[in-house]
Amino acid sequence: AATWGDTSGGGTAPPPLPRGRGSPPRANAAPQCPLERPHVILLWTAHPFFSVVRKYLSPCRETSHFPCMTVNFWTHFIPQMLILSKFCRLFFLSGRDLPFHHPGLLPLWCYASGVLLTFAMSCTAHVFSCLSLRLRAVFFYLDYASISYYGFGSTVAYYYYLLPGLSLLDARVMTPYVQQRLGWHVDCTGLIAAYRALVLPVAFVLAVACTVACCKSRTDWCAYPFALRTFVFIMPLSMACPIMLESLLFDLRGENPTLFVHFYRRYFWLVVAAFFNVSKIPERIQPGLFDIIGHSHQLFHIFTFLSIYDQVYYVEEGLRQFLQEPPAAPTFSGTVGYMLLLVVCLGLVIRRFLKNSEFCSKK
Ligand SMILES: [Zn+2]
Repeated sequence: AATWGDTSGGGTAPPPLPRGRGSPPRANAAPQCPLERPHVILLWTAHPFFSVVRKYLSPCRETSHFPCMTVNFWTHFIPQMLILSKFCRLFFLSGRDLPFHHPGLLPLWCYASGVLLTFAMSCTAHVFSCLSLRLRAVFFYLDYASISYYGFGSTVAYYYYLLPGLSLLDARVMTPYVQQRLGWHVDCTGLIAAYRALVLPVAFVLAVACTVACCKSRTDWCAYPFALRTFVFIMPLSMACPIMLESLLFDLRGENPTLFVHFYRRYFWLVVAAFFNVSKIPERIQPGLFDIIGHSHQLFHIFTFLSIYDQVYYVEEGLRQFLQEPPAAPTFSGTVGYMLLLVVCLGLVIRRFLKNSEFCSKK
């Protein structure tokens, strides 16, 4: 996430325009960065490391935000490379006798595209969004769209690899369980079938709705944009609640320890990431000290990466179990088709917001 609640030193704030050259202030001037402290910034930008990277990395290299943006970039670029190598191993070097285009791997392609797109969009936004307010708005919207796309890709992977293995979604287990625990004589078959039929369509609508809400949070109607965006970011994760319920009602820890450990650790990292994103700690406690390294946005990057890394682990474990006895082969339309349709819908949402944007919101 690049433009996530990033108003100040987080790196995507547009640079202040040059002053004192006799030119009248522009009407659409970029907002001044409240964390701008020339002495600190000059010290850092003078370092040879930055002068080398500056030369090649960012078109915004003349701005005082450059060092902070550089760290923001690397805190998502390095994770992206690590996860890319992980997916390459999964698709091409797994040692299984499966070609990369096998239908069983289609949900993994959807998931991988979501993860990699999110990181790529974050990196791109941190490099280019400082150029102008319009570009910043464009990247802001693209960033949210990519997060929604990733959320839906995760749900596709869960749907095929993880949910079929849960006792919670097995009518043969649940019907006697409900009868025994609650005394209800209910046949769970219909209920579970309805849930399964609704998972992907509901996740799809959620993905579009979350993008709309985040884009709208840039306008003035929203008093707490960061809290709203964090909430919206967490909402699609609720699609994983059957796994949580499974761990509460059944012995998930004993039956699938990999899923149990990585699943809960992932949510722990997410809570930590959300904490830094909303609280703006540590720069709120010690203004100026973390303008360049240790900024809350960089911590947010690192903890979101850790959460995704854990997720990749348990999705991989789910894939392994799925391939042992696949319940039904995923179809192209039920996986990649959905993702393509989502891309079209998100594109339409962004186009609409870009048409109506005024590009002068500081949110
Ligand atoms: Zn970011």
